Amino acid sequence: MGRVYNFSAGPAVLPEEVLREAAEEMLDYRGTGMSVMEMSHRSKPFQEIIDTAEADIRELMNIPDNYKVLFIQGGASMQFAMIPMNLMKNGVADYIVTGQFAKKAYKEATKYGKANVIASSEDQTFSYIPDCSDLPVSVDADYVYICENNTIYGTKYKELPNTKGKPLVADVSSCFLSEPVDVEKYGLIYGGVQKNVGPAGMAIVIIREDLIREEVYPGTPSMLTYKIHADAGSLYNTPPSYSIYICGKVFRWLKKQGGLSAMKERNEKKAKLLYDYLDESRLFQSNVNPKDRSMMNVTFVTGDSGLDAKFIKEAKAAGLESLKGHRSVGGMRASIYNAMPVEGVEALVAFMKKFEEENL
Ligand SMILES: *Cc1c(COP(=O)(O)O)cnc(C)c1O
Repeated sequence: MGRVYNFSAGPAVLPEEVLREAAEEMLDYRGTGMSVMEMSHRSKPFQEIIDTAEADIRELMNIPDNYKVLFIQGGASMQFAMIPMNLMKNGVADYIVTGQFAKKAYKEATKYGKANVIASSEDQTFSYIPDCSDLPVSVDADYVYICENNTIYGTKYKELPNTKGKPLVADVSSCFLSEPVDVEKYGLIYGGVQKNVGPAGMAIVIIREDLIREEVYPGTPSMLTYKIHADAGSLYNTPPSYSIYICGKVFRWLKKQGGLSAMKERNEKKAKLLYDYLDESRLFQSNVNPKDRSMMNVTFVTGDSGLDAKFIKEAKAAGLESLKGHRSVGGMRASIYNAMPVEGVEALVAFMKKFEEENL
């Protein structure tokens, strides 16, 4: 059985080259006689792995020196708590709710302080990004929170909100490393890595140093304190070492592809193939506000749930895997992350055309 085109939202497709390299190094990592999985996180080879990974993501994203890069276990959802516990100095934060993950983050924040929803697109089932040019940002807000790419709905901010001087905190789980970013526009950028970067179970947090505080929410566990992780170079305890190793390989792969501008170009091309077809199709349609369309997660429906199910089943039989939409919204979703080749999207569009002819 060969490899399929995997459109899963996460855990998701990884570059085949990375997987092959990891397979080759599985039993004996570069003459150490052991797998990275079996290796002390205090060993010299592992220190080299984590240092190289950090240097490479810094280079890829052009991360300024006054930002720390932290590798933290627990995935993106743990950050929903860690952010308010560490960043709420005045005990106030503003949230823009553009989907379920932003809503979860907001709800979690209400446990640690006063969290305000200053904009939301829930009125239209999160099918658009609200106008964020002049929001009622709280005068004493410690930060303004967004989910930059909404994995479930397929929307993305094309312009960052005007935070009126407050630090911007962004969940970039599903658009991580998909295009160049201006890190200085953010106070904190984080993402679970299993969408666009590596294996599940870890988040990468890029945080401006002045936001790393000693004084955190009373009772905050050491493991949930940014300062503890930052001071220890992400080695306070045993880190998710194998995840860091694979992420490092993905960073190398991204550099080899030409970096984030090259990825953006390729991702735009892939997304355009799919959206252009959706715009002309008489069977499938996108329900997302066209100007807010995500380049990473493309959602679509036929309008008939029985036909949606038939499509998903037949696509799977044709080697196009995991096209089912999120359980909360139904329909279809094609996640076309960095590691999805153009050929995968071409195969999907060809299959959709054929399905349209047979079922219209
Ligand atoms: C998947 C996802 C999450 C949740 O990630 P976990 O690692 O499962 O906690 C949060 N935010 C976004 C945008 C996601 O896509």
